[in-house]
Amino acid sequence: MIKSSIYGLTLEQLRAWLPEHGQKKSRASRIWEWLYQERVHDFGGMSDVRQECLDVLTEHFTMNSLSEHVKQESADGTVKFLLRLQDGNLIETVLMRQKYGLTVCVTTQVGCNIGCSFCASGLIKKSRDLSAGEIVEQIMHVQRHLDAAGQGERVTNVVVMGIGEPFDNFEHMSNFIEVVKDRKGLALAAKRITVSTSGLPDKIKEFADSSLQVNLAISLHAPNNALRTHIMKINRAFPIEQLMDAVDYYLEKTNKRIMFEYILLRDVNDQREHAAELAELLSSRKSMVSVNLIPYNPVDEHSQYQRSTEESILGFYDTLKKNNINSTVRMEHGSDIDAACGQLRSKQMKNSVEAKADEQPLAKPDASRLAMG
Ligand code: SAH
Ligand code: SF4
Repeated sequence: MIKSSIYGLTLEQLRAWLPEHGQKKSRASRIWEWLYQERVHDFGGMSDVRQECLDVLTEHFTMNSLSEHVKQESADGTVKFLLRLQDGNLIETVLMRQKYGLTVCVTTQVGCNIGCSFCASGLIKKSRDLSAGEIVEQIMHVQRHLDAAGQGERVTNVVVMGIGEPFDNFEHMSNFIEVVKDRKGLALAAKRITVSTSGLPDKIKEFADSSLQVNLAISLHAPNNALRTHIMKINRAFPIEQLMDAVDYYLEKTNKRIMFEYILLRDVNDQREHAAELAELLSSRKSMVSVNLIPYNPVDEHSQYQRSTEESILGFYDTLKKNNINSTVRMEHGSDIDAACGQLRSKQMKNSVEAKADEQPLAKPDASRLAMG
């Protein structure tokens, strides 16, 4: 039987769980400290918790639902972890060093059903959602990697931008955020956590109504419906008008800014006229939005797309600027180690399938295990 991860429980849930299993509610705080401050690797390490209580915890939970399969370190300090789940599926987690701190990018699903035409994650359908515990454990895995280096470094920022659509796994994503924000635990500041969505209007509204208070990023990638549907088929179900309606609801409700992500694909959506159209789309919301321009990271399977030229990137940026739209060009991290969403996993899976095929020419690769982000 696969046990669920203890890291999926909020402190409140742990407090409620203990008395239901014959243990004192008051032990929750100490267990929480062992998990998030002492950061022990197994229940046996919680040396001042009664054995009887540890036995009950061990019977129901694991602290290790992830194991490291591959770790790649880039010259710029980016570290990419390929992690194995208990059911054998592989996911990716990335640590990036930025001016303002150490950022971890987490995965929320095995594969993705949204199927954007440029993305490695969408190549294979989602096989399952990650549990909240599996998402929290990605942060813990990276934090333990930092602990082992002995420099006293801490994860300070989180971006939910790895494999999967977080708003298609809303409840687990929300629990994950509650756990990492907890002041007695990792105590990550809400303003240092960003969730990125392909733009599911109802979920954006639910997010606005929630108490999560973390930042929202929306993958827009095109300034009009025809082009957006071409790049992201989700736009057929939720066209730009519906998306902008949810955006306005969010802005009104939270008074927090939104970041729009825009991948620049050569000669597809990267011309000055596209930038002018984007500026027009955002013009009534200027003070509350910013645009993050993302140079496309080529994916073998999507050879129809190329990275924009430097000139187009600058031209796009300049047009937005002239129209008073705040924008930035995303810095790349770890381009020497396949750090783009899903690329390491994709390559590893292909390699292992090819190796298997060499050994057993008739063996069929298991497609569900090839899902990537
Ligand atoms: N599903 C969510 C979050 C995960 S994708 C979303 O789509 O927003 C996170 C970001 O990575 C998105 O903005 C996505 O468009 C971008 N991305 C995906 N593939 C990429 C690639 N090959 N090069 C650059 N950015 C990519
Ligand atoms: Fe899924 Fe995001 Fe990739 Fe689109 S860009 S396929 S929503 S992970």
